[in-house]
Amino acid sequence: MCGIVAYLGNKPAKHLLLEGLKRLEYRGYDSAGIAIMNGKLNVARAVGRVAMLEEKLEGLEGFDGSLGLCHTRWATHGSVTEHNAHPHRDDKHGIALVHNGIIENYAALKTYLQDKGHTFTSQTDTEVLAMLIGELYEGDLEKAVQAALREVTGAYAICVVCEKEPGVLVVARKGSPLMVGIGSNNDYVVASDGAAIISHTSRVFMLDDYNVVKLTREGFRTTDVNNVAVNPKVQQLEIDLEQIELGGYPHFMLKEIFEQPKALRACMSGRMDLREGRVVLGGLSTFGKEITRAKRVILTAQGTALHAAMIGRYLLEDLAKLPSQTEYASEFRYRNPTIEEGTVVVAVSQSGETADTLAALHEAKERGALALGVINVVGSTISRDTDAGVYLRVGPEIGVASTKAFTGQVAVLTLISLFMARRRIMGAGDCGDLLREMERIPEKIERILEQAPIIKKVTEKYVDRENWLFLGRGYNYPTALEGALKLKEISYIHAEGMPAAEMKHGPIALINEGMPAVFIANRGRQYEKVMSNIQEVRSRGGHVIAVATEGDEQIKKHVQDVLYIPDVPEPLSPLLTVIPLQLMAYYAAVARGHDVDKPRNLAKSVTVE
Ligand code: GLU
Repeated sequence: MCGIVAYLGNKPAKHLLLEGLKRLEYRGYDSAGIAIMNGKLNVARAVGRVAMLEEKLEGLEGFDGSLGLCHTRWATHGSVTEHNAHPHRDDKHGIALVHNGIIENYAALKTYLQDKGHTFTSQTDTEVLAMLIGELYEGDLEKAVQAALREVTGAYAICVVCEKEPGVLVVARKGSPLMVGIGSNNDYVVASDGAAIISHTSRVFMLDDYNVVKLTREGFRTTDVNNVAVNPKVQQLEIDLEQIELGGYPHFMLKEIFEQPKALRACMSGRMDLREGRVVLGGLSTFGKEITRAKRVILTAQGTALHAAMIGRYLLEDLAKLPSQTEYASEFRYRNPTIEEGTVVVAVSQSGETADTLAALHEAKERGALALGVINVVGSTISRDTDAGVYLRVGPEIGVASTKAFTGQVAVLTLISLFMARRRIMGAGDCGDLLREMERIPEKIERILEQAPIIKKVTEKYVDRENWLFLGRGYNYPTALEGALKLKEISYIHAEGMPAAEMKHGPIALINEGMPAVFIANRGRQYEKVMSNIQEVRSRGGHVIAVATEGDEQIKKHVQDVLYIPDVPEPLSPLLTVIPLQLMAYYAAVARGHDVDKPRNLAKSVTVE
């Protein structure tokens, strides 16, 4: 989280930086700030969105240089104020720095620096790093940054400039993503995300942990924090501008919900051999044998990705008969987990930068597990740190509330389960049948999306209620969790998701007259049981909205509202049942007047633990 953009070249930096920053605003929007070198360093900061910073800059002079950096903050240390906004400065040499991450030993360093006479103006951990670089500065910014980074623990992606070296930009990373875009004219755009780079150049290299890059108009050099030279691998950035623009939609979230048929077609394309009834996953081929012989699979993730992982677990157990479990990465990492021989760990993350998931992955690898990634962003840290993996190929996801990445994750986990199942126990016929059904999923999602106006109307009936329940069983228990999370994230309505059967063990006490309860009641093994759970809610005054299978007219007698999905084999049903839930969350947030793409307190891609 947090967006960083820096520029060094021959063009005026201001406009370029602000454009880039707007593209990264989904990573954080507590405050924004910019520093531009123009003889001296000019700094402006504002609480709120990038637009507030732009407004402020209109009345300011001196922001005309062609070296600069900017930041949009997702606060970790210190409240959301202008003083705490980045860039932060030292108090001696005119050093300015933007930072993504957390300096974990900032308190000790701060005391040390205060003893040396430095005065701080913010409560952030970041200012401590700026001050430390200043303290260690002896006329060479690159050296001072390397020296400071040898002292800090935690995570960082930083860009640093210094008035005394007006043609130098130093950038570094550990744990938080950062990439350098190489322009055609010895100019460089550095950013935490390719979205801010792609309109300038597609030639990039990613920084690895502990890399420090010194950029000048004459060229760049990469070292580690001990000044040992490093050779970065320059690659092509594969993002279309169109993919990161609204394209006529009012919000990225809505655009991405509607993109799901196309995204899933891209995700499945070339990966299903219908004739042979098998799945082709190039990313797994090197470890095909180990994966086939796996004795246990641990799927680890956070948030929406964890819900996808939970569906993955049902799929692996049901289709491949493989003992599987899911784990919050943040818990798994610190609870001394047992990893037996034959354990495969699957890390699921849209960005591939989720700090908790990355930490869990490292822990599992260290304990001998084979590590697979189910990741959307190509070249991201997790995708590089796993042994093998499968990319989602659903295109960049900008909406903070994840939608197409979720269905992409579920689709990929279905393919991985079938890949394993087919090599272990499943015949070509059964596998082929499911693959044919999978191929029809995008078209079925299109049919659900056509019902958006109905879903909107139903949502608006209940939008003033403050407490909602989302209930499902089996494959659709995780879908219920995801439906509740979506509603919480963007409409700030309190929602609980749980297994429909669990409700009677306690939460049923919450039900009062008119409380909305969304039931996932598609046709499947537990349909009758779900119907009984619906009755339990109805008898206590709850209002039931059911997601049911087309043709189920009967259900209308038992619930207030029905949203239909096309018929589908149960293992594939979450790919359809989640669509009405995504739309409900969207329409609820819009009806309540919230900024759907920038929900309060959230940011996309959580790169701190
Ligand atoms: N820890 C820093 C702060 O609170 C950086 C947060 C960010 O990544 O935006 O200011």
